[in-house]
Amino acid sequence: MTAQLNHYIAGQPQEGKSGRRSDVFNPATGEVAAQVPLASTAEVDAAVRAAAEALPKWAATPPLTRARVMFKFKELIESNRDRIAEAISREHGKVLSDAAGEVTRGMEVVEFACGIPHLLKGEFNENVGTNVDSYSVRQPLGVVAGITPFNFPAMVPMWMFPVAIACGNTFVLKPSERDPSAPLILAELLAEAGLPAGVFNVVHGDKEAVDAILDHPEIQAVSFVGSTPIAEYVYHRGTANNKRVQALGGAKNHMIVMPDADMDQATDALMGAGYGSAGERCMAVSVAVAVGSAGDALMERLTPKVQNLRIGPYSDSEAEMGPLVTKQHYEKVKGYVDIGVEEGAKLVVDGRDFKMQGYENGYFIGGCLFDEVKPDMRIYKEEIFGPVLSVVRAESYDEAAALVNAHEYGNGTAIFTRDGDAARTFASRVNVGMVGINVPIPVPMAFHSFGGWKRSLFGDHHMHGPEGVRFYTRLKTVTSRWPTGIRAGAEFVMPTMK
Ligand code: NAD
Repeated sequence: MTAQLNHYIAGQPQEGKSGRRSDVFNPATGEVAAQVPLASTAEVDAAVRAAAEALPKWAATPPLTRARVMFKFKELIESNRDRIAEAISREHGKVLSDAAGEVTRGMEVVEFACGIPHLLKGEFNENVGTNVDSYSVRQPLGVVAGITPFNFPAMVPMWMFPVAIACGNTFVLKPSERDPSAPLILAELLAEAGLPAGVFNVVHGDKEAVDAILDHPEIQAVSFVGSTPIAEYVYHRGTANNKRVQALGGAKNHMIVMPDADMDQATDALMGAGYGSAGERCMAVSVAVAVGSAGDALMERLTPKVQNLRIGPYSDSEAEMGPLVTKQHYEKVKGYVDIGVEEGAKLVVDGRDFKMQGYENGYFIGGCLFDEVKPDMRIYKEEIFGPVLSVVRAESYDEAAALVNAHEYGNGTAIFTRDGDAARTFASRVNVGMVGINVPIPVPMAFHSFGGWKRSLFGDHHMHGPEGVRFYTRLKTVTSRWPTGIRAGAEFVMPTMK
């Protein structure tokens, strides 16, 4: 019997009623691991109503009490880390150590949210006018929603809901239908941590559920993470309905390697950032821009390492990367490698024919390495989202930096160099939201905020950290005067402070 997953509404698992279901695969074996219900508009509405019902009490709960739920939730994530990691790996395919790392990075946002009483402190001015005081507070928005991608089924939802909930909002999550189990475990742990029913709800689904969220009049704000075309769509439809929207999209992250860099360090960095999680990370490095002599030095080191990548199912503790998420995605990535060859790039390592012994029906592809990739090629311009690294040769730092700036995406980037001047100039001038200096995947910690520029983000707030608190709250400013000044009589001109 295939496991049948449920929605989670008002603190209870709820069977899907739409009659529509989708298969969830184990990417290592190609077998159906579970079936997930796809919500109708009415089912999304039921989740929103549960969230709306829970809202007044939760919004009025002291921030310290809300923080205590987060403390308990953090403890439960720690004690259930292996179980959550296993659920991620089974449906996503990433190796267990990588899945456990994802859980930790998500948990760090919960730790950040534990500080919510401090983060919600407002501003106060005594005597803005004679005997008049003024203060500003940040208050929750109401019911908010999150729509998340397949590649981090636990971490990306945790970029959103711990901050949203700690701020006093109630939440409806629509996770990826490709790996929906981990968010259900998180829902269960939140309940165990003492979160009242209805504060956090999960509805599974596809476009119908997403559209129902974007059109629902009760939902005040939508956080989205996924591919750029959908991010742009979500942003336009959500804001047309007067919602606050932050929509994070795709990426094509470049790593510049200067000739003075430590080449062994740069090679290791490219291996982890290019092939870790089979390249299915929005902060994966998919383009290495080698400046001058760095080109040959890098290719010489990278080639044998890519050929010898250890690939395996998530249960193989030695594996460095697992399969791709679905058969469709496997075909897409393989198709891009074909395109690169047709476009004239030099395919130095070809992983297209890789077969995993004992897992012949899994969606495994070997690491692929292209040299002499040119900026007008599709494999350079488009996001492949697989274990395919493109090396572009540049003659100078200026040529390399211009490439990064000209690309339509601006999520992350890195420079490897020993030259402080080059690194500082790069960090200061580059048109990208997250920058690494000798750090290949510069994902900001939970107490900073995560977000790209250009077509990697629609909206103006990054996620978690201080930007997350601003996104999930609105500002109220109170100006008050007590009896001494109240008897002065009516004023008909624009008030100016005396
Ligand atoms: P996706 O855009 O296919 O799906 C994301 C979400 O949108 C899912 O919940 C999905 O159900 C929903 N969706 C899909 N098609 C839709 C449609 N036509 N209308 C409405 N909703 C729809 O993305 P994915 O394949 O799950 O994830 C990979 C993508 O996410 C990559 O492009 C990656 O770069 C991006 N990503 C970005 C970040 C970031 O922080 N910028 C982080 C992780 C992933």
